[in-house]
Amino acid sequence: MTMQPEDQPTSESKSNQTRILGGKSVSTAIRQELAVEVASLVESGGRRPKLVAVLVGDDTASATYVASKARGCQEVGMDGETLRLPADIDGGELEATIRRLNDDDGVDGILVQLPLPKHIDEDRILQLIDPDKDVDGFHPVNVGRLWSGRDALAPATPTGVIELLQRRDIEIRGRHAVIVGRSNIVGKPMAALLLQNHATVTICHSRTADLAAECSRADILIAAVGVPALLGPEHVKDGAVVIDVGMNRVDDTATLERLYPGNEKRRNGFEKRGFSLVGDVDYTRVKTKASAITPVPGGVGLLTVTMVIANTLRASKLRQHRA
Ligand code: NDP
Repeated sequence: MTMQPEDQPTSESKSNQTRILGGKSVSTAIRQELAVEVASLVESGGRRPKLVAVLVGDDTASATYVASKARGCQEVGMDGETLRLPADIDGGELEATIRRLNDDDGVDGILVQLPLPKHIDEDRILQLIDPDKDVDGFHPVNVGRLWSGRDALAPATPTGVIELLQRRDIEIRGRHAVIVGRSNIVGKPMAALLLQNHATVTICHSRTADLAAECSRADILIAAVGVPALLGPEHVKDGAVVIDVGMNRVDDTATLERLYPGNEKRRNGFEKRGFSLVGDVDYTRVKTKASAITPVPGGVGLLTVTMVIANTLRASKLRQHRA
């Protein structure tokens, strides 16, 4: 199987048999489609969709992430705004802000960047968001809609995984998908979406008795754990498709060298930033066994923001009765 040039985000991704499922080309294609859809919505008299991202406090990583969502919206022709609020904001005041955004007809998507400061009840805030504007898909109403097969705004990361599989012509129907991780953000919605796409689904977690036995039955193995390189070749069936959602920082050179032996690009990046981003899959050892694998970075992570933007357009079209 040959690789497309944009799917070679890291030097370790070169392999003759294994398809490297980079997220960049898929993300770019989706954004181009979104831009066309937004233009045609506006041309036909519709309102320009708008996302408001609420950022409480000044955590640099959160600020960067939120900014990329707002900027991504603007790039496809939508309005994207970041509402910055002080870290010591009173819970009641934040609730009032969400209510105001709910009532604002010009706002189609609301997302509250997590984590929130400790003094604020996160669940209470997330449940306050109008489900029809809940572009993160975390509201219980959207969870219920998703699991009952109704039109739902589904969480961005698992939606991105489905897009990646479909757009890279990987059959889901009838195949056995094993997900490691059962969080509300990734594992559980991933299971719902795979079921909707007619996979047979197994969900594993920290109490799963024999993780290697479960995983090695997977045609499609999805890792969403948060433990660097937890899944090795013993977890992977020959020819399986391996999707690595994990994003973990490795900040010691010994671990990096064990996971990416002799990889100069990794080492240089590490020296520059003081850490290296690795997945939940032992990429170096697993890639020779898998038929296809996503790299970290450069894989699933590139799709998450794109799918938040896609959800904003979807929410807007549904609200404007143009879906
Ligand atoms: P959580 O911590 O919420 O969930 C982790 C899950 O993994 C839990 O269900 C836990 O089991 C399970 N788990 C932990 N250790 C083991 C183990 N040793 N064996 C089997 N299962 C285990 O994480 P998230 O779902 O939020 O995120 C998972 C990973 O995905 C992280 O690395 C995160 O950074 C990344 N991520 C990436 C995104 C992207 O855009 N690419 C977006 C979101 C997350 P239990 O329930 O029993 O505790």
